Amino acid sequence: MKPTLIRPQGLPASISRPVVTPIMPSVVYASDTPDALDAQYEGRTQGYTYAREGHPNADVLAQRIDALEGCEGGIVTGSGMAAVTAAVMGLCQAGDHVLGGDQLYGRSLRLMKEDLPRLGITTTLADPTDVAAMEAALRDTTRMVLIEVVSNPTLRIADIDGIAALCKARGILLVVDNTFTTPHAVQPFARGADVVLHSVTKLLAGHSDVTLGWVAARDDGLRKRLYDFIVTTGLTPSPFDCWLAERGLVSFDLRFDRAQQTAQMLATHLSGQPGVTRVLYPTRDDHPDRARAQAVLQGVGGNMLSFEIDGGRAAANAFAAAATGIAFAPTLGDVGTTLSHPASSSHRALTPEARAAIGVSEGFFRVSVGLEDPGALIDTFDAGLAAVRALK
Ligand SMILES: *Cc1c(COP(=O)(O)O)cnc(C)c1O
Repeated sequence: MKPTLIRPQGLPASISRPVVTPIMPSVVYASDTPDALDAQYEGRTQGYTYAREGHPNADVLAQRIDALEGCEGGIVTGSGMAAVTAAVMGLCQAGDHVLGGDQLYGRSLRLMKEDLPRLGITTTLADPTDVAAMEAALRDTTRMVLIEVVSNPTLRIADIDGIAALCKARGILLVVDNTFTTPHAVQPFARGADVVLHSVTKLLAGHSDVTLGWVAARDDGLRKRLYDFIVTTGLTPSPFDCWLAERGLVSFDLRFDRAQQTAQMLATHLSGQPGVTRVLYPTRDDHPDRARAQAVLQGVGGNMLSFEIDGGRAAANAFAAAATGIAFAPTLGDVGTTLSHPASSSHRALTPEARAAIGVSEGFFRVSVGLEDPGALIDTFDAGLAAVRALK
């Protein structure tokens, strides 16, 4: 018997092709000759060499997200936080100042408060719904402004157009984390962002089975710096995760539309219930930033809503325990509805006074609406509210 070689010398011949992207877990890619490798590294030919530097599953996924955001050259990262880290640490240096929105995602806030100062990058947080407050917080050394368009969990709408104008006038990079809003509500590049990023983990992949991010830059020079930082620090994703996310992304449009319809219904329903003291949904008439929600989100309210019940922690416990079937879990954008209680999770590090200042009380919940039958979902919320009323 002839000794077999370890590695395959090619795939079986086929004149047809698969309709689903194959999973390509190969870490290394073989080239024909050193000259061929030169041509590839010099950009005269296209090819892969080593998976940390890029692989087909990441590129297929990146191009699909690029199409949603209306850009080119986006890079998939191993998590949403990897994308945030790449944007901030890949594009800033010691001595720079970074201004962030004061209600950023919890770990982004931690990066701003703990890690960047340790590395010599100073940071300030300000209210992105108030462009004058943002302007007042700028310094001569401000290199970057980082915002999210809709804040978590209070669903306030940033003045993205005012902030973009400010950044443009001062030559400051505007970075927008578009996870919460998604390109269906806002396309930040069209509104003046220099860098846009996502936690793909959330709505885009949508099934809570992968942790991934994506980051893109308007400018080629910035893109190259992002790419090199990501490859050097090893923020690159696994092919299988990219493949799963691509599968999830195929139904993103449908999932988003359906979840948004149900979220609107649920917001309307909750606002009429005894014991519910507040309902926050961007397109409602009583939303504090309603005019901006129309201008920026163009009527796309999304799948997220928040509400407050009377009765403090005891009521919150009763609600969560009785609303069985809704995962009480601090994530968002899943096919299933999830309920989160910021006072005991994302905002637990804040003092009660600091929570009160942004309206996050013990009775405050955030809901990420999923794809359940709307009637059944409303019944579940009603069961939770009935349990709260039974406490009295
Ligand atoms: C979840 C989230 C992140 C972090 O993403 P991971 O994929 O969990 O690392 C960043 N920004 C926002 C707005 C998020 O919701």
